[in-house]
Amino acid sequence: MTDGQQREKLKILGIYAHPHDFLHSSGTCGNHVDAGDSVTVVVLTDGGSTHNEDLIDALRKAPGESDDEVLQQSLKDYTDQKERELNAAAGQYGITDVRILGYRDRPLIRTDEVVDEVVDLICKVRPDILITECPAHIAGSRAVPMPNDHYTVAAIVGEAMTIAINARAGSDRVPHRVAQVYYMATDLAYGDIDFYIDISNQYDKRLAAEMCFESQAQTPDYARKRVETLPGWLGFLVGVAYAEGFVRGGLKVDTLLSVSPVELGLSRESGGERIARQELPQEPSNA
Ligand SMILES: [Zn+2]
Repeated sequence: MTDGQQREKLKILGIYAHPHDFLHSSGTCGNHVDAGDSVTVVVLTDGGSTHNEDLIDALRKAPGESDDEVLQQSLKDYTDQKERELNAAAGQYGITDVRILGYRDRPLIRTDEVVDEVVDLICKVRPDILITECPAHIAGSRAVPMPNDHYTVAAIVGEAMTIAINARAGSDRVPHRVAQVYYMATDLAYGDIDFYIDISNQYDKRLAAEMCFESQAQTPDYARKRVETLPGWLGFLVGVAYAEGFVRGGLKVDTLLSVSPVELGLSRESGGERIARQELPQEPSNA
């Protein structure tokens, strides 16, 4: 951007299957918040069947050996906890528009009702950029049992975007076309990811956000392991400290060939500078 050019503020809408999924794009959302953009986080399910590791352990134990408090926790108590954790994680980045639609997870079933609710969401929030789960035709793997909530969300969002750009007599929705879609590339191989976002500046927030998910038996050590092995690995591969990966849903259209400031910086630094930048942070602040 040259002097005198005002960067247009963007509206970003993230639509995810489960509360914790937001984290895979949360550093990117944090960068956009810092740039003055608005971010809305929406989770389609209540996360009630997701990562309840304590309950899985309790149910597997012999009668009398289980923790009664875990066995007696209601579904609502668990999903309320998920909601608090998601709000706390988003809050690390200053994101306050967080919505959980509360559909059942594992499996999430595609219904006309859920598609309709997502169309309404798109037409009301009117995002420039939409972030969501990776569709099965891009991320599909034999290692993933079907049906898979992440693929289901991607299909629901794709269907909703198609409906949102069109008008149909009898509906008073104002049509909306999303300018660009980014699919989270959490399960893709390095070379299949076509867009990396440098989130190194968000490290402390990313780690603190991971630690918010106590319902998933998240310990500080495990949270740090997750940050080092997911964004840490992607960052290592592309030459920054931490990164999140995406695949664009739409084709790139511009008037000039583009190279980003990060790409220019990487091309001009020395090997020593790169290694120093990729070293582990000395003390995670947990701030
Ligand atoms: Zn998930």
